[in-house]
Amino acid sequence: MTKVYENVDRIEVNRPEQRSGYAARVKIHPKRTHGTFRTLKWWVMAITLTIYYVTPWLRFDRGLHAPDQAVLVDLANRRFYFFFIEIWPQEFYFVGGLLVMAGVGLFLLTSTVGRAWCGYTCPQTVWVDLFLVVERFVDGDRNARIKLDATPWGFDKITKRLFKHAIWLLIAVSTGGAWIFYFADAPSLAREFVTFNAAPVAYSTVAVLTGTTYIFAGFMREQVCTYMCPWPRIQGAMLDEHSLTVTYNDWRGEARGGHKQRRSDPATAYGDCIDCNLCVAVCPQGIDIRDGQQLECITCALCIDACNSVMARTGRPLGLISYSTLSDYTAHKAGTRDPDHWPSFIRPRTFIYILVFAMIGLGLLVLLAMRDRLVVNVLHDRNPVYVQLSDGTIRNGYTVKILNKRTEPRSFRLTIEDLPGASMYLAGSSEEARDALIVAVEADRLKAIKVYVKADPRTLHERETGFKFVAVDVNGGDTADVARSQAAFERPRKHKKDEEHD
Ligand code: SF4
Ligand code: SF4
Repeated sequence: MTKVYENVDRIEVNRPEQRSGYAARVKIHPKRTHGTFRTLKWWVMAITLTIYYVTPWLRFDRGLHAPDQAVLVDLANRRFYFFFIEIWPQEFYFVGGLLVMAGVGLFLLTSTVGRAWCGYTCPQTVWVDLFLVVERFVDGDRNARIKLDATPWGFDKITKRLFKHAIWLLIAVSTGGAWIFYFADAPSLAREFVTFNAAPVAYSTVAVLTGTTYIFAGFMREQVCTYMCPWPRIQGAMLDEHSLTVTYNDWRGEARGGHKQRRSDPATAYGDCIDCNLCVAVCPQGIDIRDGQQLECITCALCIDACNSVMARTGRPLGLISYSTLSDYTAHKAGTRDPDHWPSFIRPRTFIYILVFAMIGLGLLVLLAMRDRLVVNVLHDRNPVYVQLSDGTIRNGYTVKILNKRTEPRSFRLTIEDLPGASMYLAGSSEEARDALIVAVEADRLKAIKVYVKADPRTLHERETGFKFVAVDVNGGDTADVARSQAAFERPRKHKKDEEHD
């Protein structure tokens, strides 16, 4: 008779009695599997790695005076560029908003499809998968790897180990290398890096990320998820009975038993699980999903693929291990629900998450569309607050800061509003006081100027008179950027007889 399934000699190395903070790690040798979820994981892996490695090399034309890297965290100039969006430090609320959206998105994802983030897109999962590809390529699949590990050191083993670790290190260096390109112009930094002209911080960052990638993905693997990552614990609070999790449908699988056992015990009503252990052998976390939900399970669904392949080969219905919700599982067990029932994702909780996510996103878009590309800030001199000049006029000093947020140099006409008869001049300038000043500001820069404003005290009824500085883009035409900033002009207190005279 042809053998249609494979019994894997396995032990779930991450079983509860093995989990101790002091126990030495037992190496897991995940077996390769094929199927829908494995294919999906290959796609997600390819897409996420491509995004990570390629993004810093994408160009985006912002004109002459701004960097042309599409995604750039420009620490030196304190800017964040994302294609057509440019975030200044004072606009950090955009980044805050995006982080809140990411958090809410993760809540939404977890409450509907469980730990999909962990199983498919988490960097630890993606890089472990990548390192496993290399391991399988060099050492072979599970049995060959177990055998090689047990083999005494010899030429073949040393060669394979050197080859595998060299590729791992290459991937680790590329990972660290790609990261620094997000913080400077990628082509220039690459040139400086290979000619040893880059800043020391670039080398140390690459060294740290190379080390962490190599150790986390090459050696620690599932231990990062089990012991280091807080997310599995947080998720416990987010999952509910309607969240999808990878589930062993014991109501269908038990009593489990192999073919030999079934033949020798015809009286027992066996379920669909033939106890082949393939689901355990493929698990990168080293657990047996048939023990129930476990914190270690990252819901990568590889055990679903493995079990489905067994079910297909033995002529049983697929889905002995499947994505299922606790409520579906319980109902199935009680035999009260249509076996084809599709879990409901639309429930108050997910609706609230979607609403919050959409509202924050919409709010950020509105803010983005409405944000000023010209900002004026004014600081009144406090010492002295005012000076009485020989011609009887009063002079107040101000520091006016003009922020040009566009990526081209611009000139602004600075005027005074609501202070009748006032004029101004630049501190240190020998020019006559005027109604307006022309201030040139470089692209994407802030310019601070010291301005003196003069006014006749007889025209001022209050000791402190509010007025505005107004800046207008000289070449802006009808749609010119305009910015106003409130200020106060102060004069000395009048003598009583003057006040009576007024
Ligand atoms: S039990 Fe299944 S879903 Fe969970 S980590 Fe293992 S293979 Fe992935
Ligand atoms: S659940 Fe499926 S893969 Fe796992 S032992 Fe049973 S039949 Fe084999």
